[in-house]
Amino acid sequence: FNTERFGQHILKNPQIAQTIVDKANLRPTDKVLEVGPGTGNLTVRILEKAKHVTAVEMDPRMAAEVTKRVQGKPEQRKLDIIIGDFVKADLPYFDVCISNTPYQISSPLVFRLLSHRPLCRVAILMFQREFALRLVARPGTELWSRLSANVQLYSKVDLLMHVGKNNFRPAPLVESSVVRLAPLDPPPPVKFEEFDGLGRIVFSRRNKMVHATFMAKGVMEMLGKNWRTWCSLQNKMIDDSVSMKAKVEEVLSSTGYSEQRAAKMTVDDLLKLLLAFHDEGIHFA
Ligand code: SAM
Repeated sequence: FNTERFGQHILKNPQIAQTIVDKANLRPTDKVLEVGPGTGNLTVRILEKAKHVTAVEMDPRMAAEVTKRVQGKPEQRKLDIIIGDFVKADLPYFDVCISNTPYQISSPLVFRLLSHRPLCRVAILMFQREFALRLVARPGTELWSRLSANVQLYSKVDLLMHVGKNNFRPAPLVESSVVRLAPLDPPPPVKFEEFDGLGRIVFSRRNKMVHATFMAKGVMEMLGKNWRTWCSLQNKMIDDSVSMKAKVEEVLSSTGYSEQRAAKMTVDDLLKLLLAFHDEGIHFA
């Protein structure tokens, strides 16, 4: 096992560990999922407040450390450790997720939490600062991106605190930050692949006007292909005289987004645009 490869930077500052756990506002009935417990600095604090903890840890030596810490104590019965890769592990029911995340799996972790059912109530997650700032970025700011829009479509995300690299051993190269992510329940009734597909196009030229982005040859060809697929699935005759360009322009001008820049489009703007495209049988996935 290689420290860098598995992102093994142990949080050494007890105050920060306690703050992370406190921010989850755990209830005595809560079942908690922890990703990458390491030596268990968060785990033991979670066990004080929660009914049960499932910790997923890839490194068996780390798993052994955590086990040792609770051995023979009442908390031992409240802890299950899954030794394996979080990305592939079967997850149990959980109310809350707490993780000082190995940064290699930041994106998979977020999207797994958002697609897990039933949804958890809240997640308190430590990420590389740049990633955390992109999660919470607002439209019109420099870090607003496809990731921000996708995550904010399904959850409310807030920045809780910055954590300097010297709070870890060994110190990582990058700074970290903690975010709270609360999935919206019920989630908006939109297919993720569709919303993400639209975002992929819109944010590919974030400072261009939406109209120019859509007029790119590759984009138009893809939408035409998706439209023909949709027509055949609906048993609709494909009218060859229909110009894809005209259809797309009609959607953009009727919704008023032609002259808008991607960098300023909010989640609501993207949703409205997506629904208008769907009304015309134009799909993104
Ligand atoms: N939670 C501990 C703390 O705050 O001190 C350790 C955090 S350390 C940044 C990340 C931990 O995740 C390491 O123990 C590492 O072995 C584990 N890990 C790395 N990749 C993993 C994966 N794909 N699935 C589960 N655990 C993983």
